[in-house]
Amino acid sequence: MELELIRNFSIIAHIDHGKSTLADRLLEYTGSVPPREMRDQVLDSMELERERGITIKAHLVRMNYKAKDGKDYVLNLIDTPGHVDFTYEVSRALAACEGAFLLVDASQGIEAQTISNMYLALDNNLTIIPVVNKIDIQFAMVEQVREELANLLGVDKSEVLLTSGKAGLGIEEFLSAAVERIPPPKGYYDKPLAALVIDAYYDNYRGVVAYVRVFDGYIRKGIRIRFMATGFENIVEEVGFVRLGLHPLDELGPGEVGYIIAGMKSVRDARVGDTITFADNPVSVPLVGYREAKPMVYSGLYPASGDGVEELREALEKLKLNDAAISFEPESSIALGPGFRCGFLGLLHMEIVQERLSREYKIDLVATIPNVAYRVKTKNGELLVIDNPAKLPNPAEIDTIEEPIVTSEVVTPTKYIGNIMKLITDRRGELNSTEFMESGRAIIRFTIPLAEIIFDFYDKLKSLSQGYASLDYELSGYNEADLVKLDVLVNGEPVDALSVVVHRSKAYNVGIALCTKLKELIPRQLFEVVIQAAIGSRIIARTRIPPIKKNVTAKCYGGDITRKRKLLERQKEGKKRMKQVGNVEIPQEAFFALFKIER
Ligand code: GDP
Ligand code: MG
Repeated sequence: MELELIRNFSIIAHIDHGKSTLADRLLEYTGSVPPREMRDQVLDSMELERERGITIKAHLVRMNYKAKDGKDYVLNLIDTPGHVDFTYEVSRALAACEGAFLLVDASQGIEAQTISNMYLALDNNLTIIPVVNKIDIQFAMVEQVREELANLLGVDKSEVLLTSGKAGLGIEEFLSAAVERIPPPKGYYDKPLAALVIDAYYDNYRGVVAYVRVFDGYIRKGIRIRFMATGFENIVEEVGFVRLGLHPLDELGPGEVGYIIAGMKSVRDARVGDTITFADNPVSVPLVGYREAKPMVYSGLYPASGDGVEELREALEKLKLNDAAISFEPESSIALGPGFRCGFLGLLHMEIVQERLSREYKIDLVATIPNVAYRVKTKNGELLVIDNPAKLPNPAEIDTIEEPIVTSEVVTPTKYIGNIMKLITDRRGELNSTEFMESGRAIIRFTIPLAEIIFDFYDKLKSLSQGYASLDYELSGYNEADLVKLDVLVNGEPVDALSVVVHRSKAYNVGIALCTKLKELIPRQLFEVVIQAAIGSRIIARTRIPPIKKNVTAKCYGGDITRKRKLLERQKEGKKRMKQVGNVEIPQEAFFALFKIER
C-alpha cells in the first residue's frame, strides 16, 4: 500500500474526556461499522470495559476515508485508556503512530493526565493535534479551554479543533486534520522486515493473535518470521487488518498496522514490545522497544481453595499475554499456602486483574493488601529488594530502608488548593511549585512516597475537591525513611499475609485502627479470638472477639422454612470467601482491612 495514503494516529486524553465516544462517530462517519452493529463506545469490547465505562486496553481500528483531495486514505486509529495506571498501554500505542489527537473536555479543561499524555506523545516525536471536545455542553468554557490548550502546546488558538462526539460535531474537520497535519509513515518495502508487537491476546480458536506495526519490509502468509527477543520462529498463517474483528489481507507492508497469527503459543513467544523480522534475512538491531512497564504495587494472590494454584498460574500466564504489565512469581505464605506475588502498575490495574481472573478464568482469589517494593541494606552490607512485607528482615539486621518516591501533579480549581496542600503534607509529601492557569485552576507539583499515594489518596483528593481535582504521578527515585514492619497476630500466631510496612510515626495509630477493623471483619468463632499488632516482639495494640454460643438459625424456628434455607445459603456463600488460618476463619476482606481504616 502507498505510504502517502496511510495515517496512523491515536487519541489521547484524560479519562472520560470522550475518546471512545468520538471514536464511535469516526467509525460511523467513515462507514466502518454496519449500522446494526453500532453501539456506544463500540471499541470497548471487554465486558469489564463496558460495565465500568472505561477503556482498559488499546484498541485498533482501520478506517477508509475519502479526503477533500479526492484520494482514498487508510486511517489507523488506536484507542487508548486514560487512567494513570495504563500509561504503559498508551506508550505502546504511541510507538506505532505518527500523530496523536490530544482531547480536552470543554466542561473540565486540562487535567493531570492531559499533561502527562502530552509529554508521552512529545517523547515519541508525534505530531500533536489539540482538540476541545464536548462542545455541545451548554455551559462549557469552550473558548477558555481552547486558549488554555493552545498555551500548553505553544500553538495558535486557531489550530485547536472543536468537536463533540455526542452531537457529532467537527468530525469532518477531525478526519481532514488527520490527513493534512499528520505525516504519512516512512519505511521501505525492500528492506528486511522490522515490525513492532503492539499488543497480543489469546483466542481460544486461533491461539495467539498479535497486533503489529510494520516499519520496514512486509509480512505475508507463508513467510518465516522470527521474534527477536523471544527467539520464536514460525511460518505466518494469516495477516490482516482489525476492524471490530479480524479481516485477512495478502500482506502488511511498511507503515501498516494490523494483526498476525503465526502459531505463537503463549506470551513467551509473542512478547509485547518485541521486534518481528524475517527469519532468513533479519535486521541486525531490533526497533527501539517501549518503556519497560515497571510494577508500582505488589500484592499476593492466592487461590481461595488450597489446590487451585496450578489453575491460577495458567490464568496468570494467559492474562499476561494480553496485559504485559503484570508480573508474577511463585511465593508461599504460612497463612495462605502457595500462591503468587504479583506486580501491578497501580491499584486500578490490580483491581482489574483480580476481576478478570475471577470473571474470565473463574478463579476464586484471596488477595493481600498491596504494598510497594522497598530497598533494604542489611548490617552485613547486603542489598535486598523487598516486595513482600512479610519478608522484611529483623529490625536488628537492617541498616537502612529506602522507599519509592514519586513526582506528582494535581490539577485543581484554585479554591481547593489549601485543603489539598494539607493532604499532601499530612502524607509526608513535599510541595515543589504551584502554577495558575487561565480557567481559574492550578497545577500543584510535589514529591511524595509512593506508599502514601497508593492507598486512599485519590479518594481523599476527590472528596476534598468535590470531584474536580485530578492526579498524575511518576516514579522518581528512592529515599531513606524510618519504616517499620507491623505484624498482626491472631491468637498469638503471626499471620504473615497481614503484615504491613508503615512509617514509624504512624505505626501506633495504624496498629490500633487495624486491630479495631479486624475485630469488625472477623466473624465470631466458637472460641475467643485475640488480635494483636506488634512491632518486632513489642505488642502495640490488642482487641478480642468474644466467642459465640447461639445457633444462628435458632431465631428462625417457627418461621418459614425458605427463610431458614436462605440464611444457611448466605452463610455458605460467606464461607467460600473465608480462609482458614490456624483454627480461625478469616474472610477475604480482612486482608484488605488496611484500606478501610482512617489514616
Ligand atoms: P473516554 O474515557 O475518554 O473514552 O470517554 P467516553 O467516550 O467513555 O465518554 C465519557 C463520558 O462522557 C460518557 O458518559 C459519554 O457519554 C460522555 N461524552 C462523551 N463525549 C461527549 C460529548 O461530546 N458531549 C457530551 N455532552 N458528553 C460526552
Ligand atoms: Mg474510553
